Amino acid sequence: LEAGLRRVDKLAAVGQLSAGLAHEIGSPLLILNGRAQALAARAELPDDVRRNAGILVEQSERIERIVRQLLDLARRKPSRLEPLDALASVRAVVELLEFDARKRDVRLSFHCEQPLPRVLADGDGLQQVALNLLTNALRATPRGGEVRVSLSPSTFQPAPGLRERHGVRLSVEDTGVGMDEAALERVFEPFFTTWSAHGGTGLGLPVVKAIIAEHGGAVTVASRAGQGTHFAVHIPSEKGEGAGAV
Ligand code: ADP
Repeated sequence: LEAGLRRVDKLAAVGQLSAGLAHEIGSPLLILNGRAQALAARAELPDDVRRNAGILVEQSERIERIVRQLLDLARRKPSRLEPLDALASVRAVVELLEFDARKRDVRLSFHCEQPLPRVLADGDGLQQVALNLLTNALRATPRGGEVRVSLSPSTFQPAPGLRERHGVRLSVEDTGVGMDEAALERVFEPFFTTWSAHGGTGLGLPVVKAIIAEHGGAVTVASRAGQGTHFAVHIPSEKGEGAGAV
């Protein structure tokens, strides 16, 4: 738990530090991007100049994405926990991504075990968790693959030494590229990403971890390179030690 808390602190510090910085970077970046676009569009310029201008556009857009996510992080409000129907929250996120899945030719399925207890959660936070996990799963899965999402009642231990708690398990399982041991160890580190070329910023999973910690929940991951990945998130349905400790 302590290691988890330290990571959350680090993340909060990253967010606060970058809020000011991000703001300062925003305007010059916009100018840079605009000028580079103007250059790239000048048909009379030599090909290599326009190609380079195109690279400037791409890379400035990448910085912009990172800056935007950092700002989101800095502005994120602490979770406000209330009794909530996880099914409605998660189903909305799955429906939001159905189009994306179809476009990628990935089968997206959703299953909910009934009866499901209510959880003590922040609705926006829970949806953010589901969104980040699902976007990753879809991105990791090649055409013809499958992403399985499910909700079920669960009993879990928030951390070693803490008593077991009842709650709900959100499971996101994909048949994607998977991860090796080295990547698996670093997935929750801020800025760790293997997808920078595709818009990755390495902030999705740190945010998941922070939100879950605020809920007094737990998150586990198992993965095999070349086979797939399974994230499981546990959200408590009652107050207990550790809840709201962050
Ligand atoms: P980002 O998605 O912006 O890269 P995340 O923090 O969400 O940042 O993820 C960090 C890294 O963890 C990813 O770049 C990827 O290497 C790995 N990862 C996350 N989810 C999966 C998954 N479902 N399958 C394979 N690798 C994953």
